[in-house]
Amino acid sequence: MTALDTVREIEGRHVLATYKRQPVVFTRGEGARLFDGDGREYLDLLSGIGVASLGHAHPGLAAVIADQSATLLHTSNLYYHPLQGEAAARLATISGLPRTFFCNSGTEAVEACLKFARRFWHTQGDRERTEFVAMEGAFSGRTFGSLSVTHDEHYREPFEPLLPGVTFVNANEPAAIAAAVTDRTAAIIAEPIQGEGGVRPLSAAAVSAITAACRTTGALFIADEVQTGLGRTGVPFYFQALGLNPDLVSVGKALGGGVPIGACLCSERVAQAISAGDHGTTYGGNLLACRAAVFFLQQIMEGGLLDHVKALAPHFERRLRTLALRHSLVTDVRGAGLMRGLELRVDATPVVDTARQHGLLVNRTDEKVVRMLPPLTITAAELDRGLDILDTVLAAVGSEVHA
Ligand code: PLP
Repeated sequence: MTALDTVREIEGRHVLATYKRQPVVFTRGEGARLFDGDGREYLDLLSGIGVASLGHAHPGLAAVIADQSATLLHTSNLYYHPLQGEAAARLATISGLPRTFFCNSGTEAVEACLKFARRFWHTQGDRERTEFVAMEGAFSGRTFGSLSVTHDEHYREPFEPLLPGVTFVNANEPAAIAAAVTDRTAAIIAEPIQGEGGVRPLSAAAVSAITAACRTTGALFIADEVQTGLGRTGVPFYFQALGLNPDLVSVGKALGGGVPIGACLCSERVAQAISAGDHGTTYGGNLLACRAAVFFLQQIMEGGLLDHVKALAPHFERRLRTLALRHSLVTDVRGAGLMRGLELRVDATPVVDTARQHGLLVNRTDEKVVRMLPPLTITAAELDRGLDILDTVLAAVGSEVHA
């Protein structure tokens, strides 16, 4: 039996089959590289879906995790500890949103944003203002609240009824946004760049329509930055690049570099509407998670990591555009910074599978999109090596499609 067979056999009996896994068992990582059970090396242009932001086995992150675990891991939110405030202050500096609620994942961050938006209006005495407007193609998670603002029927339908009062609009139809947002809308929620929806940035027209709808109706705006946030696009948050002004921002993924942590950032006026007991979680913002987050934020803010992403982004984009010119299979190149998608004329599965066989990890979103979310620490040489492999893979898959 291979390592893969052994793992598959025991998972098949004991792990709930909620994931369709690819046929590989990873046992070790180093920077942008992963190694499987047979010692085979892979270049990781996905970083665990944008989570391993500092790459794998980052020595600095490993050291602070080891130190914190030997000092104090968890005390609960019944008591103070020194690290939540430090992590929150850093998030305030890079986002402009002064207050943070810590949780454990992206879906929980969105859940908190939705609850705080409703709580804001409740505190104002407006009990009717409970609805949400979300975008077609949105993915914001799988808990009941976040699933209610996730668009894909396939994820939603088996769990209905979901939250009432959610309207989905086509982000490319500004008039539809204007029509959907009313004085019953608690908040509009949108990803500045849709991740699972196929790496689709909000258009300038959508940004104007959201801004105008919030101004005329007073609705809050929630930026779901779970995938785009924390330097991924070459700026701290992509709402900043778009000129949006959110009241609430959800973050997750990159924040702990692999240690589970999410956060809901909010404006002072929203913060003023929240009272003790309104929301909470046992693990949220524990010492281990916050220590990892502070370390990650130090790399972004003082360690030159944001400048590194900014510097690498034009090169990444140029190389992807060259690939698009060389391969008629590619119909579009989208994204920003180190969050990129190549849309294909065909389903992206053969490209993802062939890439993995060639030692390159990318993934498929929205059927035809090859998505790349490399570690923020990836070097230009590693990126070039990955894109050389992708070039070979697109040629191989393209010739089969044409045959
Ligand atoms: N929001 C966005 C934009 C996401 O991309 C994701 C996950 O991919 C989520 C929310 C949910 O995050 P998590 O999987 O950590 O619960």
